[in-house]
Amino acid sequence: EESDGTGNKVLHTQCPFCSVQCKAQIHMQTTPSGAVTYTVEGLPNAASSGRLCVKGLNAHQHALHSERLQQPLMRKEGRLVPATWDEALHTIAERFAAAMTAHGPDSIGVYGGGSLTNETAYLLGKFARIGVGTRYIDYNGRFCMSAAASAGSRTFGIDRGLTCRLADIPLARCIILAGTNIAECQPTLMPYFNEAKENGAFIIVIDPRATATAKMADLHLQIRPGTDILLADAMLKIMLDEGWIDKQFIHERTGGYEELYARMKDVDPAEAARVCGIDEEQIRRAASAYGLAETGIVFTARGVEQQTDGHLAVRAFLNLVLASGKIGREGCGYGAVTGQGNGQGGREHGQKADQLPGYRSIENEADRAYVASVWGVAPEDIPGKGVSAYEMMELMHQGQIKTLFLMGSNPVVSNPNVNLVKDGLEKLDFLVVADMLLSETARMADIVLPVSSYLENTGTLTNLEGRVLLREAALPAPGEVHHDWHILCDIAERLGKGKLFSYTSSEEIFEELRVASKGGAADYYGITYERLRREEGIYWPCPSTDHPGTPFMFSEAFAHPDGKAQFTSLQNSVAKEAVSEEYPLILTNGRVLAHYLTGVQTRRSPTLAARSEANFVEIHPDTARRYRIEEGQWVEIESERGSFSVRSRISGHIRKDTIFVPMHWGGVQNVNLATSPALDPFCKMPGFKVAAVRIKRVY
Ligand code: SF4
Repeated sequence: EESDGTGNKVLHTQCPFCSVQCKAQIHMQTTPSGAVTYTVEGLPNAASSGRLCVKGLNAHQHALHSERLQQPLMRKEGRLVPATWDEALHTIAERFAAAMTAHGPDSIGVYGGGSLTNETAYLLGKFARIGVGTRYIDYNGRFCMSAAASAGSRTFGIDRGLTCRLADIPLARCIILAGTNIAECQPTLMPYFNEAKENGAFIIVIDPRATATAKMADLHLQIRPGTDILLADAMLKIMLDEGWIDKQFIHERTGGYEELYARMKDVDPAEAARVCGIDEEQIRRAASAYGLAETGIVFTARGVEQQTDGHLAVRAFLNLVLASGKIGREGCGYGAVTGQGNGQGGREHGQKADQLPGYRSIENEADRAYVASVWGVAPEDIPGKGVSAYEMMELMHQGQIKTLFLMGSNPVVSNPNVNLVKDGLEKLDFLVVADMLLSETARMADIVLPVSSYLENTGTLTNLEGRVLLREAALPAPGEVHHDWHILCDIAERLGKGKLFSYTSSEEIFEELRVASKGGAADYYGITYERLRREEGIYWPCPSTDHPGTPFMFSEAFAHPDGKAQFTSLQNSVAKEAVSEEYPLILTNGRVLAHYLTGVQTRRSPTLAARSEANFVEIHPDTARRYRIEEGQWVEIESERGSFSVRSRISGHIRKDTIFVPMHWGGVQNVNLATSPALDPFCKMPGFKVAAVRIKRVY
């Protein structure tokens, strides 16, 4: 916080929403009548050159909202009423201790989020395993990055969202954007793609909808949802047949090619085109554009990844990258376009069921021993692997998890098959939610703890490039609001683990995180707050304080022990949910420009809410006619799992066999009342993007 010379305050911060992490400054002006006005502008940083999208320009509105929680709430006689911190923390410690004694620590679940800072994500993992002693911790990033993360790890030996720099985008001669709507989800990245286009790049967008991003494409492959593997395999088959591959790269830098080549013999591009619902000629154009281009970058996002075969779908696109040798050199690479603000860092430091800090594995003895030594506990004190986010909901439903501590997430809106999730949460003996606003899940809690917002909490976030950025507090926390990390320390102390959680600042937590990550895949050891202040952002891996960081990956070797990347020839074994006479349409979901995640924050911003007030279903005019649905009419959408109602938005931008509903609204407008909970066997990503549904207009 500083003054602009006129007595007004200037707050330096970073947008809390998507994975670009644009830098911003907020001018606070006090009028003669005492009212305060806010003007927001972008500041250049390496990621966004001073641009902000509409979300970033209005982010402060939720942080300064009158509905901000400013003191703890406890449920008494069925109602959430104000309580003191002492009463709330005492009750939590008492109930946790009682649950541990009666049912064991595994009766307690901990659930985190991909918008938490690295420090809080790290501490939440330690809190679950050492403070509580439970194996059950996972987070909402399971629904965001798990497919791309597992695919990157298996293919390259390490998972970093973007293998090159954003600055490589304009150098690419062909860009594939598969299942990503950057124009609405990460708008400040668009200039990179526009510049690439000006430089002559051929841009291919793969999406069942003609999105704002598809408008800039030279080729839009408007495929049927869920057919991404068929498309990528058909492209690869054509590239192999035509010789548009890099044999030397394949020979020297990859493994598994022979098995893949053998499997490709069965791939028929004409049949793939039929199932994908596009022309074979379009697939041939895509294959030649990417295969023949000198340089190229492939991006995937949730459209490809939120499938029951999401892991293999990403790997099918990575097969293209490896076969053409378009990685590890300028203008080439692969990127998973992260959705959440700390989608990258949030998946590195231990809030995943199978993971310890620095991407270490909870099942690896050496990893467990190292982290135990950093934490000052015995390796056997660290519980084993837990289960994924949705599987935790199932365990609640089955009565196995009886207590839940939830921080930075809203699972009753964001999980698939919400009817089961709601039942599971209702069955809990005790639910604690830490949030800054009363989310749909917080309304169900026994205790709600008010946490600081992005304007008040200091911490690091790692953007989609793998660049670690420090966001410092710009304002003091209002009322009795506490920082999330502080709350974890307070509860741990009351559980008798205070010595292991005696931090007095986020920097102290980061200092421990650095050491815990040292030597791991996501090595932060060389990064310090002091360096981040000076250098503005540092790419991991950064193994020593004199190391410059690693903006560009895999120029010499991949991270597998033999230095080679791995093709996959595995085939999907999970059947997609199929349409039927009873459920004849495919429901798919996604985002809109004005909202973020489950909308808890953006729906409270007057400016953003005004841009998108309510949920809707996008439906093709022919489909609408078939069901006698008119523009703006209420439509009920039903799958085997449940139903919801939204207004229609008739548009020729979507396929006739598909309807699209955004994911930002809860209650009766929640698309996840109908989505599928079937999980990808590799990464446990639910199949959000394909649900068989029927629709009818509501009279
Ligand atoms: Fe930048 Fe993303 Fe925030 Fe928009 S939402 S201002 S693109 S960080």
